[in-house]
Amino acid sequence: MTSRAIICHKERTLQPDREPDAEPTTYAMQCAVCGETSLPGTDFAEPQSCVFTHGGRNPSHQTYREIITRPWRAWWKLWTAVSLPRSPRPPVTPDHC
Ligand SMILES: [Zn+2]
Repeated sequence: MTSRAIICHKERTLQPDREPDAEPTTYAMQCAVCGETSLPGTDFAEPQSCVFTHGGRNPSHQTYREIITRPWRAWWKLWTAVSLPRSPRPPVTPDHC
C-alpha cells in the first residue's frame, strides 16, 4: 500500500500602506471630558490648535486624545500544495492474531 501527503502553506503580510495612491495619515484631537472631536487633518498641528480653542471655552476640559488614522495594506500569497512521493507502507499486523 502507498500513501501520499499534501502540505498547504499560506503567507500573510500586513504593513503600513506607503503606495503613492494610499489614503493620507490623518490626525484629530478629541476631548476626553465631552467627546467633542476636531476635524481630521493631515497636519497634526491643526487639530492641536482646536484643543486651545475648546479649552478656552471650557476651562475644566483639560484632557484630550489624539486620534491617528493610518492606512494599512494586507495581502496573501496563494496556497502552495506540495505532493510528497509515494512510499511503501509497512505491512499491518492485526493485534488479535
Ligand atoms: Zn470638552
